[in-house]
Amino acid sequence: MSIAPVSALVAAIVSFAIGGSVLLREPRRRAHVLFATFTFNIALWSALSFVAKRFDSPIFTWVSMLAAVSLPATAQRFFQAFLGDEAGPPPLSRSTVFGAAIFYGILCFSRFIEPVHTTVWFGAAFIAYVFAGLYLSVFYLYRRYRATPSRVEKTRLLYLVVGGFATVTASLAETIPRGPSFGSVFIIVYLYFLSQNLIRYRLLDLNELLGRMVVLGTLVFILTFIYGVLVRWVGPDEQGLFFFNTLLASATIVILIEPLRSRVEGGISRWMFQEKFELSRRIEMLRAELANVIDMRVLVPRVLGALEDSRRITHASIYLADPDGSGYELAGQVGPRPEARFDAITHRAFFERLRRTGVISLEGIEREVVARRTVSTEEQETLQLILRTLEQMNGSVALGFSSEDQLLGTLVIRDDRLREAYSSDEIELFRGVANSIGITLQNSQVYERMKERDRLAALGQMAAGLAHEIRNPLGSIKGAAQFLQPGQMGEGAKEGKGESTREFLDIIIEEVNRLNKIVSQFLDYARPYRGEQRPLEVSEVLKKTLSLLPAAQLEGAIEISTSFAERMPPVRADAEQLLQVFLNLSLNAIQAMAPGETPGKLLISTGLRRATRRGAAAAFFEARFRDSGVGIPPGDIKNLFIPFFTTKDKGTGLGLPISQRIIENHGGTIEVRSQPGEGATFTVLLSIEADAYAAYLEVTRVDSARRTPTPPPLPPPAPPALPPSARLPPPIRRTPPPGTLEGFPSSAAKDSGRPPREKSKLQPP
Ligand code: ADP
Repeated sequence: MSIAPVSALVAAIVSFAIGGSVLLREPRRRAHVLFATFTFNIALWSALSFVAKRFDSPIFTWVSMLAAVSLPATAQRFFQAFLGDEAGPPPLSRSTVFGAAIFYGILCFSRFIEPVHTTVWFGAAFIAYVFAGLYLSVFYLYRRYRATPSRVEKTRLLYLVVGGFATVTASLAETIPRGPSFGSVFIIVYLYFLSQNLIRYRLLDLNELLGRMVVLGTLVFILTFIYGVLVRWVGPDEQGLFFFNTLLASATIVILIEPLRSRVEGGISRWMFQEKFELSRRIEMLRAELANVIDMRVLVPRVLGALEDSRRITHASIYLADPDGSGYELAGQVGPRPEARFDAITHRAFFERLRRTGVISLEGIEREVVARRTVSTEEQETLQLILRTLEQMNGSVALGFSSEDQLLGTLVIRDDRLREAYSSDEIELFRGVANSIGITLQNSQVYERMKERDRLAALGQMAAGLAHEIRNPLGSIKGAAQFLQPGQMGEGAKEGKGESTREFLDIIIEEVNRLNKIVSQFLDYARPYRGEQRPLEVSEVLKKTLSLLPAAQLEGAIEISTSFAERMPPVRADAEQLLQVFLNLSLNAIQAMAPGETPGKLLISTGLRRATRRGAAAAFFEARFRDSGVGIPPGDIKNLFIPFFTTKDKGTGLGLPISQRIIENHGGTIEVRSQPGEGATFTVLLSIEADAYAAYLEVTRVDSARRTPTPPPLPPPAPPALPPSARLPPPIRRTPPPGTLEGFPSSAAKDSGRPPREKSKLQPP
């Protein structure tokens, strides 16, 4: 049996199966029925052609021609319905109806009166009519392809036009005697593709389907080629060699199939679905990046930025649930600003559905509106409400992220340039992003709770410190006041009354000042950050700090030297606040150095610390304060930044905590290195913005190119080793004035684990 009848039989069976499967599917639309009619027509024609060819039967040839006459009509009706869809039964072109009538007439005439259907002229006219009709159907597709503004629609129609044209042409070629017999294969593939167009809701999925078909086709061709070559080689009688070659071919295929498949798949997906390939690459990168983010304030702009960079969206917004769950607030957007808040109750239909399904797409809802025309008006209203919410959010697809059964928020995207901009696979990719947002959101909530717990613990510690700090001066004030009470001064004291009264009043004023200082510093610490950050030269701030250092303290006792790196990139910071930090660190260093035989040394230097931030080159500005003072015992280092930790008589223990808070507000840190007796180094690290660093790198690159072989400016060399520290000056201790003290036991001092300060203890006379 030759190949042509077999392929006709296969085409008949498969076409029938495809038509049947579409017909059985719910909801059944008019286009489905017309598609089934068209495929059944093809099935009938193919089956009859098979019998006619197989048994060389003139009567079946005649019947198959009868079946073929209706092909243009069924094809055109289907394609018109397919393109116009729900618009009711499509009209048939008059020439098709007229042509069909003529051919039915002639065929009847030929059967019963004079057999003209076997003549070449009739055959040619018949083929011309049938194929012109089929080409006309393809032309409808082409016309729509030209007219449609949608990119997705265009791609889909292009596939259909090219496939249709190839199928009709291949079938036409089969009518030529001894022509190629690929027609049936084309018909099967094309009908399958058409059926998927009807069944699959997301049109873009067809691209992927086509991609898979192309992969399969390519593999089949490669493997057939391998078999073909090896089997062809064998002569008709060489049975042994035939089996050997078959074995060889099978082995080759088994070995080749896996790498070949991944190669072909990779190549084809890059060639056919470049956009999707690119999008998935970007989203993979974004998700890897999000794994390191804990702060939603960082995450939201990063996600939106990456989506914008992908150039697959024109609008995107992220809404996050209010803490009390009463609504969803806009956290950020790309494109025109949508409504800022959606009430959970008013938009319940939308959020409830999003929580249940995870995704809401405009087309999905619109399709449901059409498909459910018959259902209750209440359901229709719900669908309309969902559509409206999506519109107000400026989105065509909303992707929810939930924890357990609570909707935490939604990522809404849209590509204004296209109607159906995303395939199901792409929506899955975006869903992955939404999931990552959900995970970060949950992590950030846990993190915030932990921070809150730490904050409360620190607050407790601070309150104890504050109470202690306040109690001591109060004790002194009370003691002094009691001493000043009339009748409290002893006889002996009366002689020098004026003098001791002044002394006690001085104590009161001094202690009140001290209280005032503690309270204002404490407020500094507790007050939320209110600086104004702008790019500035940090070394300028350092120079100003030096000019403000109390000259009296430095005279002879301390040598201050500086080593500022040249042409450093600017840092975004608040000059006043930096000054406060630098001044505090310098004064601490000065106070740690006792005036002795060898003067103390303070070296203030700047430099650049290179680092990587999420794989990208980044840098920090370093300002180092290195002193040759007493140093800090290892046990104290961890307490330095706890409010009210101090080892000084007149210290408040708030300088470092305030400094740390300021630097952290600038996105930096303070590092401490010290050994007791060997001085201390405090390093302030301020992050340099990516743009400023890039500009700096560019300048140094140009510079070094100009001055080769001089290397580009590097961070300054490590400061020279300092001599062993001088000894700490004896603590400044106020001589206790004569007087009595009762009251204000210092329990806080005991509790804090620090010895109560001597200066606060007023000795009874
Ligand atoms: P205060 O200076 O009021 O004590 P700070 O918070 O500025 O408060 O400092 C806390 C403590 O840290 C100081 O009491 C001191 O013990 C220690 N300290 C700070 N800087 C230095 C330094 N450069 N060398 C040695 N000790 C230091």
